[in-house]
Amino acid sequence: MANEPVKRNVLLNPGPATTTDTVKYAQVVPDICPREKEFGDIMRNMRGELVKIVHGDPEKFTSVLFTGSGTMNIDVCVNSLVPDGKKILFADNGAYTSRGVEVAAAYHIPYIDLKSPFDEPVDPEKVEEALKADPDIAVVYTTHNETGTGVLNPIRKIGEIAHKYGCTFIVDTTSTYAMIPIDIEKDNVDFVMASAQKGLMAFTGLSFVVGRTALIEKSKEYTTRSYYCNLYLQYDFFEKTGEMHFTPPVQTVYATAQAIKEYWADGEEKRYQRHVDVWNAIHEGKERLGFKDIIKKEYQSKMVVSIKYPNDPNWDFTKIHDYCYERGFTIYPGKVASTDTFRLCTLGQIYPKDIEDFWKVFEEACVKTGVSIPAKY
Ligand SMILES: *Cc1c(COP(=O)(O)O)cnc(C)c1O
Repeated sequence: MANEPVKRNVLLNPGPATTTDTVKYAQVVPDICPREKEFGDIMRNMRGELVKIVHGDPEKFTSVLFTGSGTMNIDVCVNSLVPDGKKILFADNGAYTSRGVEVAAAYHIPYIDLKSPFDEPVDPEKVEEALKADPDIAVVYTTHNETGTGVLNPIRKIGEIAHKYGCTFIVDTTSTYAMIPIDIEKDNVDFVMASAQKGLMAFTGLSFVVGRTALIEKSKEYTTRSYYCNLYLQYDFFEKTGEMHFTPPVQTVYATAQAIKEYWADGEEKRYQRHVDVWNAIHEGKERLGFKDIIKKEYQSKMVVSIKYPNDPNWDFTKIHDYCYERGFTIYPGKVASTDTFRLCTLGQIYPKDIEDFWKVFEEACVKTGVSIPAKY
């Protein structure tokens, strides 16, 4: 029997994403204990698929699953991969890399927070200067698409420099994995991470790190800074038993398996192109209504657009949000300390037509609340 269609909401927030009904219904399965072999097989297969999505050689790369939201990966990578007595360098141009800095601080791991302007990509030369100046740095960390602004960082170049100085390179790819093509080895990355509710378009609760097996095995020697969130311990348990150390998010695993099938059915190029088409539709509507974004177009990841609040006494983000929300469109505040912005993201099972519909509703919201169109700045 066919499943009832579920009310469709267009989520323009930076995850969770709009999902297909087939992914939603994939969660509805007979009750199962996740210690059964049948369930272990699903996770084993998934670990391989997650490496494949970033073109990793299975001889060199592995993936490790965790129960938690995406921030858990940041925690895991930062607390597990810095050798004793060494430092981690954060190439930091926004809120998400700053989260990595907070993790390092919380675990008392020596770190350098190399801050750079939020509205432009990280400059690889600055990373090189920092590495030259401090031979104690063993790990370099950055974020691929700074989801707070939508700036795309030049990871291939940064990774080349990190490797030149013998460092491990960790990239938070939570908002690009399965959206922007990544080739983990060619892009000079050792560890990427993501969460099922983002580019894969499944649900919250399952997060994963994909990285170099040899480096994970080496990290066994480092001081254990967390029990539940240690990369080696979780990896080792998977290798020995095929299972997660503690209870996995069972229903999310089923949904993610379905989402991965749908990812391959579209393919990497088609997925990327659809996100770019949505991004173009966001810009078209934005320009039609006279709104301005804050990041130069050539710096944008095409996965997020950060729009500046207009200079209009009647502008009230909450009112606009609520009007759109009631009509099935969710928009989200920005993450830039110095400028008031809201964000429109391209992730999820959404199409340019959804964006055209959104801008119509958004325009209505402006007119109803007395905001001038075209927007005033
Ligand atoms: C969404 C996101 C995360 C994870 O956030 P959670 O709320 O913990 O799921 C981490 N990094 C980036 C770049 C993200 O976009």
